[in-house]
Amino acid sequence: MSQSTSHIPPRPLPVATAETRPFWDGAAEGALRLRRCTHCGRLAAPLAPRCAGCLGDRFTVDTLSGRATLKGRTVLHLNALPGRDGPLVIVECAIEEDPRIVLIALDDSGVTNGALPGQPLQLGFGPDEGGTRFAVVLPAEGPR
Ligand SMILES: [Zn+2]
Repeated sequence: MSQSTSHIPPRPLPVATAETRPFWDGAAEGALRLRRCTHCGRLAAPLAPRCAGCLGDRFTVDTLSGRATLKGRTVLHLNALPGRDGPLVIVECAIEEDPRIVLIALDDSGVTNGALPGQPLQLGFGPDEGGTRFAVVLPAEGPR
């Protein structure tokens, strides 16, 4: 019995937890959402179980601007995502509302080609992939 070796498994989809559900629910709607501590007001990174400022565990959810600055950039020339040819540009972005929070996004539009850390970026979300949308760097729309 033989199995086809040409089958490409789909891109793994995130499994939302109590901490990450606001982020992924927002992503599905194309909105960048993070939790905000009800005690001290600090934003929490998607995976943080507690507030990094006061260790509080009660949060509201804020919709953010999507504005960010470039922190770092990696170009993968391997086929790192199923069904996607390389190179894959992975970008670390510090969000405007709290630059201590760094999110990872893909840059399919080439906005960060030749960019230096600190360049302003606009984050958004890519097309629906099995009910999930992943963070992407949006194409530049001119001066900000
Ligand atoms: Zn707090």
